[in-house]
Amino acid sequence: MNVSAQAKKRLLTGDRPTGPLHLGHLVGTLHNRVMMQDQHDCWLIVADLHSLTTRSRREQIGELPELVHEVVLDLLSVGIDPEKSTIYLQSGVPAVYDLAILLQMLIPVNRLSGIPTIRDMARNAGLKDDEVPLGLLGYPVLQAADILMARAEVVPVGGDNEAHVAIAVELAEHFNTLYGPVFPIPEAMVSSTPTLPGVDTVDGGSQHKMSKSAGNSIRLKDSADEVARKVRSLAGPAAGATPEDLDSSPLFAFVDAFMTDKAAASALKYDYLRGKTNADSVHQAITADLEILLRPIRERRAELMADPGRIEEIVVDGTIRAREVAYQTLNQVRDAMGLESLWSGLVAATQRRAEARKRPY
Ligand code: ATP
Ligand code: MG
Repeated sequence: MNVSAQAKKRLLTGDRPTGPLHLGHLVGTLHNRVMMQDQHDCWLIVADLHSLTTRSRREQIGELPELVHEVVLDLLSVGIDPEKSTIYLQSGVPAVYDLAILLQMLIPVNRLSGIPTIRDMARNAGLKDDEVPLGLLGYPVLQAADILMARAEVVPVGGDNEAHVAIAVELAEHFNTLYGPVFPIPEAMVSSTPTLPGVDTVDGGSQHKMSKSAGNSIRLKDSADEVARKVRSLAGPAAGATPEDLDSSPLFAFVDAFMTDKAAASALKYDYLRGKTNADSVHQAITADLEILLRPIRERRAELMADPGRIEEIVVDGTIRAREVAYQTLNQVRDAMGLESLWSGLVAATQRRAEARKRPY
């Protein structure tokens, strides 16, 4: 039975439009989003401002329409239902920038500079230490503004983003303590595969999490041949490997994440440790299950591509809705902090003065 819209908890999460979505998104957050969409009021943000933290050049901004389109296409392809979700463009909701600035006042720089994801994103974008923009340091604060603006209570994210949701929790608690209870306290929801490693299509690709910006991803829209080729880039653990070596290897992380028959996966590990099977067989087993997972997604994507204008329509509708809620939240925040009464006090004083000038002598 469907929970009524009123009683539904709001869920918010999102993706940077920095490239097509990949298998890490699928197991890290997309499956959870699809699973939860009936029972939650789902808000999915296409986080183009977060893209600007590492891609702010004019030609990079010029790529955004296509990238935004691709991300939304991926979301719908995996089963996100636009009737149940508000899908919106972050930069189309300026009240969020206002909120982000106010939240920036409540967090020490040191708290942000220690977060490892900031370093990783800078590395993927080829930025040196002295090139990291203030906006990248403030990435989690902007994310907190997204979450708190929507008054979201559940935030399904990958492992790398847990630290960011922790900042949103701290900011909500700190704000409520200082100015009164305005924000619900959000909670991160992390999947059983919080961090899928990348593939070795680039040097050292499997030593880091799969990322759109790192060139180490298997994209949801990749063809069956591309998927198989990318899976084959993963080397198996060397002969004599221990069970622990196996469990920590990127190749077997794919076994754990994608082999649906858990007994077959255990047998494969057992045989691999005893030298009775090799990496080729592991690649084939992973690829076979990935094909079962990805074929319907590819097919749905092809269907959706027949009506491209629908994607933009979904984003516009969602953004209009998000703008309304954002202004409501921003007004509450300004009220709670006393900024609204500061402004309205100045306006009232000016009106009184104007009235006084009009009075006859
Ligand atoms: P970029 O390289 O541009 O940062 P990304 O691949 O890291 O892209 P994001 O848009 O930053 O993707 O992340 C969207 C969501 O997907 C976040 O909740 C993030 O935690 C999750 N996610 C991203 N990569 C992985 C992964 N490899 N495993 C599990 N979850 C992931
Ligand atoms: Mg990322």
